[in-house]
Amino acid sequence: MVSYDELFIRKEQNDKLFLDVFSTLEQQKLRAEAREFAEKEYLPIADKIEKEGKFPHDLIRKSGQRGFWGTPFPREYGGRGLTTWDACIVQEEFSRIGAVLCTPMAASWFGTFPILKAGTPEQKKKYLTPLARGEKIAAITITEPNVGSDTARMETVATPGEGGYVLNGKKRFITNTGVAGVYLVFAITDRKVDPYRGMSAFIVEPEMKGFEVEELYKFMGWNGVQNGVIKFTNLRLPRENLLGREGEGFKILMNELDFERTIAAAGSVGQMRGAFEACVQRAERRVQFGRPIKDFEWVHFTLADMAAKIEAGSLLTYKAARLIDQGTQANMESAIAKIFTSDAAMEVTTDAVQIWGGDGYRNAYPLERYMRDAKIVQIGGGTNQILRMVAGREVYRRIGLKAPKPA
Ligand SMILES: Cc1cc2nc3c(=O)[nH]c(=O)nc-3n(C[C@H](O)[C@H](O)[C@H](O)COP(=O)(O)OP(=O)(O)OC[C@H]3O[C@@H](n4cnc5c(N)ncnc54)[C@H](O)[C@@H]3O)c2cc1C
Repeated sequence: MVSYDELFIRKEQNDKLFLDVFSTLEQQKLRAEAREFAEKEYLPIADKIEKEGKFPHDLIRKSGQRGFWGTPFPREYGGRGLTTWDACIVQEEFSRIGAVLCTPMAASWFGTFPILKAGTPEQKKKYLTPLARGEKIAAITITEPNVGSDTARMETVATPGEGGYVLNGKKRFITNTGVAGVYLVFAITDRKVDPYRGMSAFIVEPEMKGFEVEELYKFMGWNGVQNGVIKFTNLRLPRENLLGREGEGFKILMNELDFERTIAAAGSVGQMRGAFEACVQRAERRVQFGRPIKDFEWVHFTLADMAAKIEAGSLLTYKAARLIDQGTQANMESAIAKIFTSDAAMEVTTDAVQIWGGDGYRNAYPLERYMRDAKIVQIGGGTNQILRMVAGREVYRRIGLKAPKPA
């Protein structure tokens, strides 16, 4: 039987196949560093975490101490001073092993990114610094029981009053629920105007009176990731916890989503690589009809299709990352990157189970886990249906066609 950590092909083999022609030497070193950390610290306990389903506090703390959480944040606030491109490299390498290291980090980045972009120097010092150092975890809270894709119609309200706001409402599906020390919350501050001008963003701390974790969710995958429902009841928020100006929430959210979708796409690329690599070993070692199964045409062509999807997904992801790093709007590119890579990851991980045959379906190996974990990326951060609308609108805008009115 192939041991769990033998499933992954070695770095040299990997690099021979997926030639890296775009990264700098520093980026190649970062990739090697992230891969080494994930293989040494995460891989040996990935199976245990999957079975026990407990949030891996130690692993998360170690990854923070090693500086990975600070990858896309400035040095002056405790980060590594690197880029979205670099963050994608780390995300891809962590995701190659599984979801439990990359997901809390990515969700924390999503809650931190708006503070970097819209925070005052005081807010950055107070919140961004411990987040970039990996000493605290953040969460981004958009989705509600009655409002998923249609974020503009959110029901959570922050009523302006003396010295600040009173927050009431419920958010669900929040990744890092219960482990986050900073919650980036979007709420309506003015019902009289449309939500594009009436939504604001806030920094909420779980110690605040009126904050409650109502429920933790269980999923088909993501065992070990914490996600659930948060309730705000007459939570008094001081004015200094408003992020950006009142009414700027929708703009802040749209800006964050380009980053979020690009990082999510990098996660899907990592999943595809992990599943692909596990198949390479298996195809060589598994013998049927007197030959290794790699010699059968379907297996050969499927490995080629997998490699094509990984290559194409990487190119789309790193293009979106490059645009974000240049400060160029990347709503179409990030949407396309997430649509393509998450759909491709679903196909690649399903084919990987098939190449492994009955063993692919066993939970003794990570193949079925990859398949279950791949699914969420088609849903989170805007479903792939909504992202087709986002990309389609931008395609029409760029070529001068009038987009259809949203439903
Ligand atoms: C594991 C997990 C982690 C998550 N993490 C977070 C998080 O950290 N923070 C956060 O705020 N949210 C999070 N989410 C929520 C996620 O972003 C939403 O689930 C997603 O946006 C879809 O919303 P919904 O589930 O309410 O589906 P709905 O909006 O109810 O959609 C249901 C279906 O209808 C389709 N649909 C809806 N409108 C249209 C339309 N106009 N045209 C075509 N099809 C349409 C959708 O594509 C979907 O297939 C997470 C979700 C999951 C499952």
